[in-house]
Amino acid sequence: MTHSETLFEQAQKYIPGGVNSPVRAFRGVGGTPIFFNHAQGAYLYDEDGQRYIDYIGSWGPMILGHSDKRIKDALHAQVDLGIGYGAPTALETEMARKVCELVPSIDLVRMVNSGTEATMSAIRLARGYTGRDKIVKFEGCYHGHVDSLLVKAGSGALTLGVPNSPGIPASLAELTLTLTYNDIDSVRETFSKMGDQIAAIIVEPVAGNMNCIPPVPGFLEGLREVCDEHGTVLIFDEVMTGFRVSLGGAQGLYGVTPDLTALGKVIGGGLPVGAFGGKREIMEHISPLGPVYQAGTLSGNPLAMCAGLATLNAISEPGFHDRLTEKTNAVCRGLREAADATGIPLTVQGSGAMFGFFFTEEPSVTRFDQVMACDVERFKKFFQGMLKEGVYLAPSAFEAGFTSAALSEQDIAHTTAAAKKVMATL
Ligand code: PMP
Repeated sequence: MTHSETLFEQAQKYIPGGVNSPVRAFRGVGGTPIFFNHAQGAYLYDEDGQRYIDYIGSWGPMILGHSDKRIKDALHAQVDLGIGYGAPTALETEMARKVCELVPSIDLVRMVNSGTEATMSAIRLARGYTGRDKIVKFEGCYHGHVDSLLVKAGSGALTLGVPNSPGIPASLAELTLTLTYNDIDSVRETFSKMGDQIAAIIVEPVAGNMNCIPPVPGFLEGLREVCDEHGTVLIFDEVMTGFRVSLGGAQGLYGVTPDLTALGKVIGGGLPVGAFGGKREIMEHISPLGPVYQAGTLSGNPLAMCAGLATLNAISEPGFHDRLTEKTNAVCRGLREAADATGIPLTVQGSGAMFGFFFTEEPSVTRFDQVMACDVERFKKFFQGMLKEGVYLAPSAFEAGFTSAALSEQDIAHTTAAAKKVMATL
């Protein structure tokens, strides 16, 4: 038995499924999850002494690579000053100012502790601001485990939402309409029937929870138009894309401005952080300024703010995202090369420092049903093969890949060679 296998057995005695977040259990790919005990730069090291090139980056936050000195120094210094005060600090203002500077659509920002809290609070605020109850989301987009957002439409775009987890009241799920990503016509049709009842559209501006699907031209622009026509709040869930696809997030890259933005992952530099912010007029409805309640014992915690700020400052260096995007493109080219060399049908696509690959004959994947039609069995074999070659990809065919600044040319060359070797066995 490997150390990981032993540790997983022990974990399952005390933790549901042995993990604190389900995808980590490797149910999507089979086998035993790898237990890690340290990480440095582009690499993760497991309990059995194996090294892996990491394309998950703690699911997004580690954009600088692991154990970056700038983050560690900031954290060490803050630990000596106190771990938290539950009272205002200058650090929080510095963080807020930085976020508002990098994301110009944000006039005011509130810090929270996870992406889930960010989207949950943004939805409550949109409902409180508009006085409407219904919301629109898109199939295949994930916005955290918020009751209103763990909802999938039944057949037909206009049927009322049904919960896709027990424990979510049907009466709440009914308020969530789920439409097709990248299909602006279905959005326009829905709004023509009930636009005046819809508080918000929430969307991942690049979908990263059904593999990686960039928006088709006109989709985000169309959402903006529809929201303007109907007085609906447009929420970009940039928990994944924020500070990653460009310094200004997806809104900076695609040039479409939301009313509210949810942030997470990179903004915390690896600590538990999220944030939501946007137009002053809307944000002024949040307590204590306004009547929409929202709070957090550890929100704005100084350790979290330190790690986040150190990250945001580091990625603000000129050219950071250009270099990271180029690395990401090189990873994508390597996968393409491996597929061409082995005759495996593969589509590779990405946006900034996010990428995805699909085992499919389709030249591009823009819709959820295309994602579902991909060869998941082939993905599983590829994943396990890459793991053996020391490359750690997301353990699911439905997650985007993330690159970090620590990734070297040699790492990318190793990844390409590994992909060729593994694809030859598929
Ligand atoms: N929104 C998006 C787009 C996400 O990808 C995630 C998490 N992967 C969340 C929200 C939820 O964030 P958290 O897991 O920090 O609650």
